Amino acid sequence: MEELQKAMDKISGTFGSMVFNDRVMRERLPQDTYKALRRTIELGKKLDPSVANVVANAMKDWAVEKGATHFTHWFQPMTGVTAEKHDSFISPDGDSAVIMEFSGKELVKGEPDASSFPSGGLRATFEARGYTAWDPSSYAFIKGNTLCIPTVFYSYGGEALDKKTPLLRSMEELNKQAMRIIRLFGDTETTRVVTTVGPEQEYFLIDEKMYRAREDLVLTGRTLFGAMPPKGQELEDHYFGMIKPRVAEFMADLNEELWKLGIFAKTEHNEVAPAQHEMAPVFTNTNMATDHNQLTMEIMKRVAHKHGMACLLHEKPFEGINGSGKHNNWSISTNTGINLLEPGDSPRENAQFLLFLTAVIKAVDEYQDLLRVSVASAGNDHRLGANEAPPAIISMFLGDELTEILEAIKQGTAYNQKSAQEMKVGVHILPRFPKDTTDRNRTSPFAFTGNKFEFRMLGSGLNIAGPNLILNTIVAEELSQFADILEKADDFDTALQELIRKTISEHKRIIFNGNNYSEEWVEEAARRGLSNLRTTADALPSFISEKSIELFTKHKIFTTVELHSRYEILMELYCKKLRIEGLTMADMTKRQILPAIARYSAAVTKGALEKKQLSAEIPCDFEVGVVKALSECATQLRAASYKLEEKLAAAQEIEDTTKQGEFYRDEVLPAMDAVRQAADHAETLTDKKYWPFPDYTDLLYSVY
Ligand code: ADP
Ligand code: MG
Repeated sequence: MEELQKAMDKISGTFGSMVFNDRVMRERLPQDTYKALRRTIELGKKLDPSVANVVANAMKDWAVEKGATHFTHWFQPMTGVTAEKHDSFISPDGDSAVIMEFSGKELVKGEPDASSFPSGGLRATFEARGYTAWDPSSYAFIKGNTLCIPTVFYSYGGEALDKKTPLLRSMEELNKQAMRIIRLFGDTETTRVVTTVGPEQEYFLIDEKMYRAREDLVLTGRTLFGAMPPKGQELEDHYFGMIKPRVAEFMADLNEELWKLGIFAKTEHNEVAPAQHEMAPVFTNTNMATDHNQLTMEIMKRVAHKHGMACLLHEKPFEGINGSGKHNNWSISTNTGINLLEPGDSPRENAQFLLFLTAVIKAVDEYQDLLRVSVASAGNDHRLGANEAPPAIISMFLGDELTEILEAIKQGTAYNQKSAQEMKVGVHILPRFPKDTTDRNRTSPFAFTGNKFEFRMLGSGLNIAGPNLILNTIVAEELSQFADILEKADDFDTALQELIRKTISEHKRIIFNGNNYSEEWVEEAARRGLSNLRTTADALPSFISEKSIELFTKHKIFTTVELHSRYEILMELYCKKLRIEGLTMADMTKRQILPAIARYSAAVTKGALEKKQLSAEIPCDFEVGVVKALSECATQLRAASYKLEEKLAAAQEIEDTTKQGEFYRDEVLPAMDAVRQAADHAETLTDKKYWPFPDYTDLLYSVY
């Protein structure tokens, strides 16, 4: 028992030990300061400068006690990764001493140079100066020797330059609209509604030496070459399989690092592909979940390195093997602890649940394109629609039972044969809702899983702020439309019944409970008029459509200028990623693969000549065959590589970003495919000893 207690104490002593969280604040701040800070955190009230000074000082003392010497404003620019610039706490005190200082001003505002971060044209219009501002709703934490302060990042003109600002705006807007609805249902206690997220994170672990030996992995995060290994994932023996000792050690270490930062890492298991794993945390509010997920990805890489491994977060590191995604489990909760997407026990609760559910159905149907945009990236294009991840078509899974209930409401008929009564919402006779959809559908891009939605199209490397700010905004829009109608209604129950019935009947096409990976679904979806934006270049323009601009400006999530700047940034990123991949391919072809083919061919030729010297009668069919086949391959490969370089040069000449994106999609990507095909074929003909870098078997089975 004592042992158990000790073990428990160790974990609870570790958990959150590096976070300036509520417990620490309460312990270390004077009561009125603590209260003022809570008001800022909960209600977004501005913090008085004198209060900020007290908080900053307490934070600094706490951090210094924990060994920190520096602080940084930690933010999430449009690069997709986090940024930090460290300043030390040290200030001169007289001419021979130093003191540790940290002021409220330094806590609240920072001024990093914005000119080195993507701004999508905002820089041209406005000053290069950028500011970071403290986000008190996400706790400060210590990483290494640095106190990290979560911040938003914006330009001199006030335009958001980061991923967090619009996310916070969207959470605010959803709160506002959802509050209107729950007040209509008679809830007088709730003062705030938040969205919650639990992101399940997939990743690969490979041996670091193998990783270092591959220029493509180092520069682009994925293998640009590699013939299929004799064994892939077909035996399905990896999923939930035994965790290898080295991986288990990594996971234990990772958990501890995450726990210290208050990240509730909970579930871990092997995934479908060899060397693929998953970690799921306990869900929290969307803002913290986003910060935590960014930290999780960073720490995964660092801990892997410590264990002599590389953690791959690319969406598709290996062709022919499942890529990695991130399931975004999303729900809406009140600060009184009610999950608004959970069917309740009373008819009233169920009517409210149905209204929120129909709001999500309508949102997903009307803004399919935006959801698709929110997960679009060059890397994720390899997954969506490739029989491993949901297709590029958005649809929703509700499960048969819930779908039947909605159908009955729509028809105004009885839900099951036993009851002859008409289905009515909001009054008396709703059936008990299925609490757990046991008929799980793994192929749906957007699945209802009993009390939350699971958005499954995200790639593993994505910052989850993007999809969540879009989800929040589109649902806020539908809730605002619903509230407009219901607030004016004379008879609430009748209006509610009619609203739900009408919404279901208008948006039913988005519900699909079948197999999303099938060819038939692609055809069926087209008949239903659902959009199918296959690539990033196809999807991104929806972001600046009239409908999108209207939505985002109405809810003050983005200004028109911000939307256009983001569009530019995302399309540019797509082009740049593909350019780096193309250049890496050409480089590896010329300086590694072709020379290897030449060396091996020479060795084989030499062997054949030696045989002939021994005796002219010894046949050399094998050598001749290999050298011939490899020569043909090399000729093809060389030509394909030159063609790729030509295309890359041509792409550089295109000024319009949209056209450039299309050119990469239509010209560069096929040229890359041709190079790969020739090289992968050559690999299967070449002595493994001569191949210039580790192959798929080496990479996928390198950790044991
Ligand atoms: P799986 O999808 O693998 O069956 P679970 O359903 O247990 O796993 O949960 C997956 C993730 O969903 C976890 O990160 C969990 O914390 C999260 N989750 C559970 N409830 C909610 C909620 N109300 N809001 C957001 N995320 C949630
Ligand atoms: Mg899941």
